[in-house]
Amino acid sequence: MAADGRREQNIRFIIEMEDRIAQCKRCKSLLSCIRKPSMGKGDLEPEIILVFENDMTVAQNSDKLLELREIVKSQFNTSKIYHTFMVRCQPKACVIRSNTSCYLENKKLIDREYNCLLSGKYCEGIPIKPADESIISCLPFLLEELEILDPSTVILFGERVSDFVLKSYGIFKEISAGDAFYDGTGRVFISVPSPEEFTTEELQKLGDILSSTESQS
Ligand code: SF4
Repeated sequence: MAADGRREQNIRFIIEMEDRIAQCKRCKSLLSCIRKPSMGKGDLEPEIILVFENDMTVAQNSDKLLELREIVKSQFNTSKIYHTFMVRCQPKACVIRSNTSCYLENKKLIDREYNCLLSGKYCEGIPIKPADESIISCLPFLLEELEILDPSTVILFGERVSDFVLKSYGIFKEISAGDAFYDGTGRVFISVPSPEEFTTEELQKLGDILSSTESQS
């Protein structure tokens, strides 16, 4: 397909998928305290996709995301990078909500300005890691996104992301940070530590992994 045609098709398919994500109610308990699910962002004909477990670390530290994107960009010599999430709806721990009547379950409890309708104050929920059930419910969206955008390289941030994504592709090998795996189409998946564990040193190590993977391809 011509480059322009592929880009248009990717845009169409991604918009259609995002519409379904926005309507998704598979994880009802997560929906009360979020405004909208997190969507992927970046180049829509990417060579590399970065996959994070959820939006928590990235949203809280956009400098880290920029830093990660920059090192991938310089090591792979490409700016065709996209990042996305394994779970779209950020779970939160909240004392106010857990002390509230079950009649409020499944109701939106947060307004457009992120104020809590129960306390009248800005949401004080603490972002937490998603449960396995949410990962299993949400994973099909990530797999669909990878199939639409068809990158040659996928970088998996964190053990859980590596574990769930690689198993979805039938790769059941033991995983250590820095390992590279190939699927049947030759796409490479690189397992790296989660963004929280990334230090400048880790960023350099990622650079070395990327260079050696590139020289093997
Ligand atoms: S986390 Fe994913 S599967 Fe669950 S409700 Fe949100 S979009 Fe749907």
